[in-house]
Formats: sequence, structure tokens, C-alpha cells
Amino acid sequence: MFAGKLAFFLLLYIKEDAESMRQPTYGLLIGNLLMVVLALPLNYYSDPAQLAWRQPEMDFINQIGFLMVWGTALLFVDLIGMVLLFERLGAVVTNTILGRMFISLAVVLSFDQLFFYLGLYLVTGAPLSAFYGGWIAKIGSALFFSVMLTLYLRFVEKSPLPVGVRRATDVFDRLTYRHRYEKLVGRIGKDPLTGLQDRGQLDEKGPAMLTEALKSGLPLSLMMIDIDHFKAVNDNHGHAEGDRVLQAVANALLNAKREGDELFRYGGEEFALLCPEASAGAFMLAERMRAAVADTVHPKLNRSVTVSIGIATCPANAKDFRELLMLADAALYEAKGLGRDRASISAMSAGEYR
Ligand code: GH3
Ligand code: MG
Ligand code: MG
Repeated sequence: MFAGKLAFFLLLYIKEDAESMRQPTYGLLIGNLLMVVLALPLNYYSDPAQLAWRQPEMDFINQIGFLMVWGTALLFVDLIGMVLLFERLGAVVTNTILGRMFISLAVVLSFDQLFFYLGLYLVTGAPLSAFYGGWIAKIGSALFFSVMLTLYLRFVEKSPLPVGVRRATDVFDRLTYRHRYEKLVGRIGKDPLTGLQDRGQLDEKGPAMLTEALKSGLPLSLMMIDIDHFKAVNDNHGHAEGDRVLQAVANALLNAKREGDELFRYGGEEFALLCPEASAGAFMLAERMRAAVADTVHPKLNRSVTVSIGIATCPANAKDFRELLMLADAALYEAKGLGRDRASISAMSAGEYR
């Protein structure tokens, strides 16, 4: 039933989005076109051995084919009209789901009935009564399905998100849903301010890299990097400038690290780096990173910004990731205590730390 089909599409739109609504529409159109194409060869087929009453009724098949394609093409227009009406009516006539559904379904079904009848009239010369009969039935169905869908949304598929009014431009925005989805996926796991990998990535990659290192017998070092007296930057120059300094430090660290090293924003003004090195190699790298940050110019600050770095290594210091973090942190506090702007290697094993 056509009104039911439209109501189903409207539900898809409300619960999902225009993208999901489009998929079954393409399916319908392709299916109908395919049937028409498959029926075409019948026009050129006639079997003299067959009895007259077994010949296909070509006129009838072609008429139905045309009406099916015409009907599905109308469905496209109907769907766009229905979504626009559903969104615009919210602001103009009524704000209830029931009212918005009924009016958009009724208007679109009337439009559809008119144009479908036109097609029918041109092809079969159907009488005007066919228009009225169908139209009354469609308005009745619009009411029936609006009530059913409203009850369904109210009692079965309760949503924490209100079915708000979207602007008409949003409707077309939704048609580029995949593009926005890809952008969103690209953002997952990234810190929005610095673009570095975020804490969640460290929690995932850290233990995995450590397990891999223990298995292969190669060392793995973790650095905890903390900006010195960063609070003073915020206090003296404002948080916006503080953010710019954070980005500049992140960039300096990113440029100083090597290809296989993984850099993360741990949180606040703290960064973490995982590198496949024993403590001596990690210390040299830490010194390079420290110098890179100290050499970075911050035009608004009139001074440089420095970092302190704590280093712990697996398996020399710790054999699990939580212990490695703890020891790198302890080494960082040692570097702060020794006067900041320096790197410090953990001298402890996890057992001693406890
Ligand atoms: P220390 O040398 O001992 O590390 O001193 P500190 O001032 O760097 O350390 P503290 O932990 O006292 O201050 C860290 C500051 O970092 C406090 C907080 O406001 C600031 N901060 C954390 N995240 C952000 C951020 O995303 N943007 C800005 N602008 N500031 C941040
Ligand atoms: Mg800190
Ligand atoms: Mg700090």
C-alpha cells in the first residue's frame, strides 16, 4: 500500500536520516526498471505454435511497466517533499509529531495521487472517479499511519533525542551524510587541540607495544613530557595564548621524534612518547626533544617554554604498562625537582617503587 510505504520512509527518516531513507528508494526504482527491461523482449516474441489466448497481453504489460516507473519516479519527488514538509511544518503549523506527520503525508499523497492519475489517464483513459476514490482512501491511510507511527515512536521506540525541527538546509546536509561520517571517523582518537593521538590511543597502543616488545626481546621506552610552569603562561597571557603555546610545543615534539615513535597528548600540558629504545637511546632522544621545545620561538611570550621529561624502560624498569607509566611519572617528578628543563631516567624497578 502506497501510503504505508511513504509512512515507513518517514519513520526511517525520523529514526535514522535521509541517507538510510534513500537506500530502499534506489532499490525500488532499480527493481521496477529491471522488470520493465525484462518485459521488453516479449514485445518481439510471438510463437506461431501457441494458441492465441496464450500470447502475452503486451499492451497491458507495457502500460503496467510505464506506470511502475512513473510511480517510482514520483516516489523520489514525494520523499523530498515529505521531508521538507515535515521539517517546515514544525515551525509553521504545528509542533506535534502527529500533526506534522499527517499534514506532510496528506499533502504528498494528494500530490502523488494527482500526478499518478494523470499518468493513468494518459495511458488508460481512466475516469475521474478513479482519482477521487483513490484520494479519499489515501487521506484516510495518512491519518491511520500517522496515528500508528506516533504511538510507535511514543511507546515502542522511545528516543532520548527530541524529534526537533531541522532547517531545510540541514536536510540537504544530511544527504552528504557519508562525507560527514568519514570526517567524524577521522577525528576519533585524535586530540582536537593539537591533532596528536589522544589518551585513549595510548591506553590501547601502550600495552600492545609492550607485549610485542617483551615477545621480541627488544626494549621499549616511555617518556612523560610535561611543560614547565605552564600555568604561568595561562595566568599572564590568557588561555587562548596558552592553547597556541600547547600547539607549538606539540609541533616541536612531533618534528623532533622519529618515524617509529608514537606521540600522544596525555592530558592538559602533558605528553607521552613511546619509542623502541633502551634507556640510553631514549635519553638521547629526550634531550633532542627537550632542546627542540626550548628552541621554539613564541612571539607573544618574549621567552621560551621548556619541558621536563621522565623516562622508564621495559623490561629494565617494568614489565607491565601500568608500572611503566608509574615509573616514568616518578622520573618526571625527579626532573622537576632537579630544576626542570631536563630529562631524567628512572633508576628503579617496579618492585623498588612499591
Ligand atoms: P610544573 O612546572 O610544575 O609542571 O608547573 P605547571 O604550571 O606547568 O603545572 P600545573 O599542573 O600547576 O598547571 C598546569 C596548567 O595547565 C593548569 C591548566 O590550566 C593548564 N592547562 C591544562 N590543559 C590546558 C589546555 O588545554 N589549554 C590551556 N590553555 N591550558 C591548559
Ligand atoms: Mg602537569
Ligand atoms: Mg606542567
